[in-house]
Amino acid sequence: MNNSESRALKKQIGERIETLERLLIGDQEGGGDDRQPDDESARMDLTISSAVNSRITLAEKQELTRLKANLLWLDSDDAGFCETCGREIPYPRLQAVPVTRLCIDCAQ
Ligand SMILES: [Zn+2]
Repeated sequence: MNNSESRALKKQIGERIETLERLLIGDQEGGGDDRQPDDESARMDLTISSAVNSRITLAEKQELTRLKANLLWLDSDDAGFCETCGREIPYPRLQAVPVTRLCIDCAQ
């Protein structure tokens, strides 16, 4: 990963973090959620999802945490190298899966 690739990746991650944080903040403010499910199973789904979070899912919260960690990682000496085997992770993989710190072999 060269400098311009690293910059582009950090920009990509930064934008994704911004999007997720906007969802998270909107959620804490509690905004108007006027969905009115008209059957029992839809009401059940709504209860489950609002227990986790109404607009940002648990998976997205985890993604946010991992993106922030990887943003720091990209500024470190280990940036772009697999956490497990130490080989360089191909840049297209980092672009496709910006939350990863593993090469394809170690991720499997
Ligand atoms: Zn590896």
